Parts: sequence; structure tokens; C-alpha cells
Amino acid sequence: MSSFTHTPPSLDGNVFTADSLLQAYLKRHSHKLDCTSATQSPLQQPSIATTTKNFDYRQLENELRNLGHLAATTLPNLATIAEKYPPQHIAYDAWQNRVDEIETHPAWKELLRHAAESGIVGDGYHYRSTQYSRYARLVQFAKLYLFDAQCAVVTCPMAMTDGAAKLMETQEGLVSRFREVYEGLISKNPKIAITAGQHMTETRGGSDVSGATETVALHENNDDYKLYGFKWFTSAIDAQVAFTLARIAPKGSTVDDVLNMTQEQKKKIPLSLFFMYIREPETNKLNGITVYRLKNKLGTKALPTAELKLHGASATLVSPVGRGIACISPMLTVTRTWNAVCAVSKMRRIIHLVRDYSTKREAFGKKLGVLPAHVQTLARMSVEYEGCFHLVMDCAKRIGFTEVPDSSSEELRQNQELVRILTPLAKMYTGKVAVPLISEGLECIGGQGYMEDSGIPAILRDAQVLPVWEGTTNVQALDVLRVLKKHPQAIMTLMNRVQRLATKGHSLHQTPTCPTLDDMLKSIRETLLKSLKELSQYMEQMKQSRSSDFVEAGARGFAFSLSRVYILALMLEHAFENTEYERDLHAAHSFVRMHTPLVNVEQVDESRRKVDQILAMGEFRSKL
Ligand SMILES: Cc1cc2nc3c(=O)[nH]c(=O)nc-3n(C[C@H](O)[C@H](O)[C@H](O)COP(=O)(O)OP(=O)(O)OC[C@H]3O[C@@H](n4cnc5c(N)ncnc54)[C@H](O)[C@@H]3O)c2cc1C
Repeated sequence: MSSFTHTPPSLDGNVFTADSLLQAYLKRHSHKLDCTSATQSPLQQPSIATTTKNFDYRQLENELRNLGHLAATTLPNLATIAEKYPPQHIAYDAWQNRVDEIETHPAWKELLRHAAESGIVGDGYHYRSTQYSRYARLVQFAKLYLFDAQCAVVTCPMAMTDGAAKLMETQEGLVSRFREVYEGLISKNPKIAITAGQHMTETRGGSDVSGATETVALHENNDDYKLYGFKWFTSAIDAQVAFTLARIAPKGSTVDDVLNMTQEQKKKIPLSLFFMYIREPETNKLNGITVYRLKNKLGTKALPTAELKLHGASATLVSPVGRGIACISPMLTVTRTWNAVCAVSKMRRIIHLVRDYSTKREAFGKKLGVLPAHVQTLARMSVEYEGCFHLVMDCAKRIGFTEVPDSSSEELRQNQELVRILTPLAKMYTGKVAVPLISEGLECIGGQGYMEDSGIPAILRDAQVLPVWEGTTNVQALDVLRVLKKHPQAIMTLMNRVQRLATKGHSLHQTPTCPTLDDMLKSIRETLLKSLKELSQYMEQMKQSRSSDFVEAGARGFAFSLSRVYILALMLEHAFENTEYERDLHAAHSFVRMHTPLVNVEQVDESRRKVDQILAMGEFRSKL
């Protein structure tokens, strides 16, 4: 046997101290930019007012250093144990009583405790009234980004918990009505903290919630209803409360009427939003719920995802009748942002591990970290990750800006519009990039990356859910079209911002300029301006088109193009406002090289659509 021993990739005890992008981004935002001069002329150089701060970076640094240590040590260890001992469904007790107990391992419970204590939900709420104020969401999501990568996806219930708290804030009177629940959702004290579920997906389909939901609500008293239906995916069933959608049965209906309604009858009734306890608070028995089974999944192994039958579950109507979809949307804004942050967290983790491994592993007599093809692969991964990081953090911080608005109502309006469009873009783009990027990272670690006990396969498995749940890639892309149709101003605001960044003055810091850098900057600016023109032209084509097929077939191309353009603008902004102009400009320029043309939408006219239909369905066409 060889005397050689492998040195495994390691996190060196802290994922925050090693993360220069996160540190630079937060430092940058801790300063208040004095941009008064920029309003006079876009080419004048704004300056950082050294005395004014948005928040004290050093205080935040201390918090993140502690969390960075936890995320590099305790969390991955707990995650490994929790995945090794996945949740169990105990349907009956020894005496034939239906109990539907869900047993989770203590490691999972520990992860939930750490999640509450670390403030990955609570800080978004409690920090609003601290020095972080409108940056509370940025801080919260920075913490989530550190926390998520190897935590057995305990962030799934936490995402829904945050979404539920946000939903409660946006529905008038809901917080005061269920104050204890709200305080439990945002609590950092594990003794009080509770989690929430979002029970939307049913057997007929999760993408088409409006059309496919079969659950019916039968009126009892006031806002009290009983729910009858089947929820096909519910993570995590160990939560205490849930928000769900159902159709209110016509007045005078009986349970039998409800059970015998056809889907055609149901579809005519718009959805309403309900709040429910999973277990009756008084008895701790399941609230009119039968757990059919826990799902057997590719990844997210420790997460108890159940199939549930609702047979008279008590629930409270919390939206105006028939306004369920509109009222649940703030919850989805939050959970989709979580999805995007978690995608970037996992990308960062694999890059961290690959970089470390590249300093240790040798091939052909050299460290991997200097082998040109390996360097090229890792550089592309890094640029892709950086782009995703900027997209996600921009979305995250703007949620905070809408919650603690500046004095200007115009700024608030713009941030609301940006959040509306950035949420589907960030969810879609990062979810789609994460899987191949992490797969590439696994490959960079060679055969050992494929070994289960290296911990790396779990990152890939768990990443695969990111483009699926919370709405698939195509569903997000169609959502972008919906925003374009209903709120065209949102896309205009985004494009105006790109335009401003493309024509903005030079770096805020003293930076050397040289012909190469100037050429790069020029090329980035030109790419942005050209891409804006192309996007406008395509949007005009969509407007003129009478074919919804043309518009829908281009949805993905359009949404990815818009994402790429915005990402490049954000990378340029970072280069201007960060202290490493040359390095950051190179990153932005690499992004251009990797993604040219940024705007790339296939034009699917009628004849092309017919060809695609043949190519897509092949020998199965006759079955359509
Ligand atoms: C591990 C896990 C946990 C989950 N937990 C929860 C949970 O807690 N709560 C919850 O509510 N849901 C949950 N889900 C469900 C998840 O949100 C749905 O699976 C997802 O939204 C997709 O819905 P679907 O499975 O019905 O797929 P479908 O809607 O059947 O979609 C199948 C395919 O069709 C495509 N498609 C659908 N409509 C269109 C269209 N108009 N144009 C083009 N393409 C289209 C989709 O992109 C997809 O590729 C969970 C899922 C997983 C995997």
C-alpha cells in the first residue's frame, strides 16, 4: 500500500474570514456614499464621506466571524449526522392508534436551534430598529449565505418561517391577531422560536396553483373554516403553523358536497388564503391532518417533507375571499430570495473547498492551483459565482429598503419595483447556475469529490432542488413576463439603473488607470449600452407579436438576458465602489467574455415552433 495520504479540502475553521467578496461587499455598504456631486455631472467623481456610515462594519464583522466559525465546524458536522439519520414517520402506536409522529434526529433539532439563534430569520426584523436599520435584510441574508451551505437544508423551514412573518406583516391586522405566532416566527430565542410551512403544491401540480388546487374550505363561524384536500409536498411537517390555499365552498355546502365537487366546479372558485396550526395548540394532536408518508428524495434527506391529507383541518381565513394568490405573494418573494441566497452559499462553499484543495493536491508534479486548464475552469466558476452573489445581494438589500424606506417616496417606489423583478430573476438565474457549477466543483476534487463521506455529494444533491422548488426555471421566466405585462415600470426601473451604471463616473477610490483597464471599462460600458438596446428591441417585438407562443417560447431567453445585463452592471458598480478596482474590473470583463452575447433570445416564430414541437416530443408526439 502507498505511504501517500490525501490532505482533504478544508474550511480552515471559518468561512467568513476567508470570504473576501462578502467582506468587501459589506464594507462597501457600511459607508454612506456622498453622491451629491454625481447628480451634477455623471462624469464627476463622487466621494466616500468618511465620517458618515450606514452601519458600523466592525460590529458586524464580529458577529459574522462567530457565525463563520459555526458554519465551518459545527453545522457541517450536525448536517452529516442529521442526514445519516433521516426523519421517520410513525403512523401508528403500539395500540393501533393513528399517531402520525414525525421523529427527527437531535442533530436536526440542534440545527433548528442554531438557525434561530444565529438570526437568519430574526435579524431581518429585529435589526430594523438597530444601527443596521434599512440594512437589516442585507445583514440577515449575509448571515444566511454563511449559514446555509452545509446545514442539511434546515434553511428550508426557516425560509418559510421568514416568508410567513413577512406575510403576516403585509396582511392588515394579522400580526395583532396572532401576535404570539408572529413573535415566535421572528424569535432568536430557541425556547420561543417556531417555524412555519407553506402548503401550496397539490397532486395536480405545483406550477399551476390557481388552476390545480383542489382543497376546499367549508365555512364554520366567522373566519373559521374546515379544510378538505391533499397537500402533495409539505416541508417541513415538523413546523408549528402553516399558510395554505383553498377554495371556499358555496354557502350551505355539507362535507359530502365538498368531497364530491368536481375539479371543473372547483376551478370556478378563486383561491383564498388560510392560516392553520399543524397540531391543535390545546391537545398537541394533528389538526385534522393525516400524514400519508414522508417523501423519499434525491437530496434534502434530513428535511421531513410529507404528503398530507386534510380532513377537516381547522383553519382561519386571512385574506379577502378569493384573493389568496395575491396575498401569499409576499411570502413567495421572501422564500424565493432565500432560495437564491442558498444557491450562492453553496456555490461559494464548493469554490472555497476547491481553492483549498488546489493548494494541496498535486498532479503531474504541480499543485492543481497552477495547472492552466484547472485555473481556467476555476476562474470561470469564480466569475459566475461573483455575478450571482451581486444579483442576490442586490435583491436582498432592496427588500430591506422597502421595509425601512428612505424619506423619498420615489426611492421607495423604485425599490419596490426592483424587488418585484429581481426576485424571479435571482431565483431563476442562481438556481440554474448552481447545479452545473457545483458539479464542476465536485469534479475539481476528482474521485474524492464523488465520495459520500467527503460531504461534497450532499452539496450537489441539495443544490438540485434549487431550480425546482419555489417554482421551476420556466415558471420564474414566465413570472418575469407577467411582471413585464402588469408592471412594465419595474423593468424600466431596472434598465434605467443599468443605463446609469453604464454611464457613471469613474472609481470612487484612487486607482491606477492604464490603457488596458480603460479599454476594458470602455468595452463593458459599450456591452451594457448595446445590450439595453437589444433588450428594448426584443421587448418591442414581444409587444407587437400577436402570438403568445412566440412570447412564452422566448421567456427563458429574455429573463436570462435581463439577468446577465443586470449582473454585469452590478459587477461594474462593485468595481467602482470597492477598493480593488483592477481586480473587480477584470472579473466584470471576464463575465462579458463568458456570456457574449449577453442578450440572447431565440426567436421562435410559427414554423420554428412546429420544428421544435417535433424535436421536443419526438416519437411521443402522437400521444399529445
Ligand atoms: C424537496 C421538495 C420539497 C418541497 N416542499 C414544498 C413545500 O413545502 N410546499 C409546497 O407548496 N411545495 C413544495 N414543493 C413542491 C415544489 O414547489 C414543486 O414541486 C414545484 O413548484 C414544481 O411543481 P410540480 O412538481 O407540480 O411540477 P409541474 O408543475 O408538474 O412541472 C413540471 C415541469 O413542467 C414545467 N412547466 C409547468 N408549467 C409550465 C408552463 N406554463 N410553461 C412551461 N413549462 C411549464 C415546469 O417548469 C417543470 O419543468 C417541494 C418540492 C420538493 C422537490
